[in-house]
Amino acid sequence: MTSKNNLPIYWGPDYVLDSGVETRTKSGPLAKILIGGEVPGVNLIAPLPITREELLAIHDEQYIDGLINDEKPELTRSIFASTGGVRDALDAMFVHGKAGSLSSGLHHAKRDHEYGLCYINGLALAALRAISKHGVKKVAVRDTDSHCGGGTFQLVGDNEKIVIADVSCNSYDIWQPNSDRHHLKVVKSANEYLDAVKQALKHIDGVDALIYNAGMDPFEDCMTGGMPGITREVLAERERLVAQWCEDTQTPAMFVLAGGYGGKNLDLDGVARLHLPTIREFARIRITPKSKN
Ligand SMILES: [Zn+2]
Repeated sequence: MTSKNNLPIYWGPDYVLDSGVETRTKSGPLAKILIGGEVPGVNLIAPLPITREELLAIHDEQYIDGLINDEKPELTRSIFASTGGVRDALDAMFVHGKAGSLSSGLHHAKRDHEYGLCYINGLALAALRAISKHGVKKVAVRDTDSHCGGGTFQLVGDNEKIVIADVSCNSYDIWQPNSDRHHLKVVKSANEYLDAVKQALKHIDGVDALIYNAGMDPFEDCMTGGMPGITREVLAERERLVAQWCEDTQTPAMFVLAGGYGGKNLDLDGVARLHLPTIREFARIRITPKSKN
């Protein structure tokens, strides 16, 4: 039994819309790849949807009620299911040391409106829950989506227990650090990228838990966010660095998918496959959560 090293990953068919942006379509093909057993040690679990009450911890009441009463119930169902997965992954990481959810559409969401394909900021929600439910003293939101996480900064930037480290390739949704808890680097070329990733890991040194927004949209073939020279190999190394940091520091960690979009050489299955290195690395590492006393 001691050799058991399963990675719980939250996903359910309710996450998936049949068409539209990859944010809400790509988890379907990715789940299929995982169910096919391509990454050993992964355990797919369907989450419970997030509740209205839970969402009011970060979002405006009118905005949430507008989403609940929206005339596109499939979109609302998808958003509530995938945000429930972020919450459940957060709870699972304190049991298993690591977890994930095949959720996207998080870091741009603002308190009272959708922004940049993001409706609910599950990263902010998870960080606050890590503090309120799990009693952590310092939690990091580490964001490597190609775009900046201005929504996360708006929602939890002033929380003294939350450290933000954001490495972007694009100034969309840029924010201004206003504390030594904040780190933002917008890289100008691919050859700066992995150094920026390492710098951001130094910034989160000493945190008790990590929430990782593992966007793959820096990949050079992504039509949105892609940067020439950021190859699959560069992104695989990024995921190795992040996961190895988690194992070396024995920091409980969870990931979500975040960005990753098609392009002229990249179909939906290709986009789903972009996210496999994150899952492989999290499946590989071992983190023993500290027992509470
Ligand atoms: Zn993005």
